[in-house]
Amino acid sequence: MIEEQVRDTLNWAGNYEYRASAIEHPTSLADLQRAVSGSTRVRALGSRHSFNDIADTPGTLVSLDVLDPAVGIDEAALTVTVGAGVRYGVLAGHLQRRGFALHNLASLPHISIGGAVATATHGSGNANGNLATAVVGLEIVTASGDVLAVAEGDDGFDGMVVGLGALGVVHRVTLRIEPTFEVRQDVFLDVPWDAVLADYDAATSSAYSVSLFTDWSGDTIGQAWLKSRVDSDSPAPSSFYGGKAADRAYHPVPGVAADHCTQQLGVPGPWSDRLAHFRLAFTPSNGEELQSEYLVGREHAVAAIQAMRSLAPRISPLLQVSEVRSMAADGLWLSNNYGRDGIGLHFTWKPLQPEVEALLPELEAALAPFAARPHWGKLFAADAAQLAPLYPRFEDFRTLARRLDPEGKFRNDFLDRTVFGTTA
Ligand SMILES: Cc1cc2nc3c(=O)[nH]c(=O)nc-3n(C[C@H](O)[C@H](O)[C@H](O)COP(=O)(O)OP(=O)(O)OC[C@H]3O[C@@H](n4cnc5c(N)ncnc54)[C@H](O)[C@@H]3O)c2cc1C
Repeated sequence: MIEEQVRDTLNWAGNYEYRASAIEHPTSLADLQRAVSGSTRVRALGSRHSFNDIADTPGTLVSLDVLDPAVGIDEAALTVTVGAGVRYGVLAGHLQRRGFALHNLASLPHISIGGAVATATHGSGNANGNLATAVVGLEIVTASGDVLAVAEGDDGFDGMVVGLGALGVVHRVTLRIEPTFEVRQDVFLDVPWDAVLADYDAATSSAYSVSLFTDWSGDTIGQAWLKSRVDSDSPAPSSFYGGKAADRAYHPVPGVAADHCTQQLGVPGPWSDRLAHFRLAFTPSNGEELQSEYLVGREHAVAAIQAMRSLAPRISPLLQVSEVRSMAADGLWLSNNYGRDGIGLHFTWKPLQPEVEALLPELEAALAPFAARPHWGKLFAADAAQLAPLYPRFEDFRTLARRLDPEGKFRNDFLDRTVFGTTA
């Protein structure tokens, strides 16, 4: 076991300092089990990409960054079993070399599988579930230190996948895979909002994955990124709702060089080099942005977008860029996509936390008519009383967490505030 002092340990964005008294880096499953059973308060720490206190604990943080990097592919079952501390980009490279693929990736490939799955992290695509929907099995070290192995179809499994770290430390994850495929990425500029909103479902079905980047002001969408599967029957997009085809590579944030972005300009390449927006080889900077995101049902997409456009004068001064993506419905209890196809209204903010936090209640009030569910790993203001009615299985999740963790070993301020509703 490797132990690290926590003093001055920050999350990726540098906007949150962990309060835990120690971070342990177990080097074996037995080590991990000892770390969990021997602590009164403990939490799993992923790659620290969340923007709030979700991962913290007053006790011990356990990072799986040096544990069990082995990747086991079952070619017959089309699954891969991998340590939860492995980063998506590392797994993606491994799968690609063996001729396999995941169905989707988030914008950044540096995020750990355990942390992404625990918060329902997603990419885009009207027909694509979030990354947690690829999970078909979990091995969880529960509060007692025992290993609970669960598979799709088992009682409670749908509650355990998006677990927010509340149920235990996930040791290994089994994910559904498919044969590798190629993707081309085309960017269109200055796309008229009216044309897209008049035909929203068709516009966002124009490619395997569609992302709309906007600052909400004006009549046009700054950039539309279309990631198309080369093996699909649909022709490659040559136009997009009146937008201008980009003749060079673009970064989503206006004026930033595109060197760190995945290849664009319609050049086909493996899914592992196209589905994320940013390259694994690029080391992302820290502390230069904050993020929030709200997910609404697709039937509310146009109205929710219009609500954000009408708030442009309030949003734009704090914003670097927003991204609108789509996700398919799933049955994972605390997934933001539970029971409904949806869109994500994402905000990459300037690093102005007090100003952003002051604005969030206003954004949430504007999105409340659409039953907006905040991304668990980003900044939001809603508490358990506001969130519970948005998730039909919320109470079942609380019951599951109390059953697996009767003494509250994995509880923290975030869970007390946003799930259990036990803070003052
Ligand atoms: C630059 C950037 C880009 C991003 N892009 C996207 C995006 O495209 N789409 C999107 O949806 N989100 C995105 N996010 C948000 C990010 O995916 C989530 O915040 C995610 O939870 C971060 O994972 P992590 O490994 O860093 O986990 P952490 O932030 O370290 O932890 C998050 C939660 O996961 C739990 N956890 C971690 N590992 C385990 C484990 N082994 N067992 C049990 N619980 C565990 C923690 O306890 C905690 O509750 C982005 C964030 C950043 C900084």
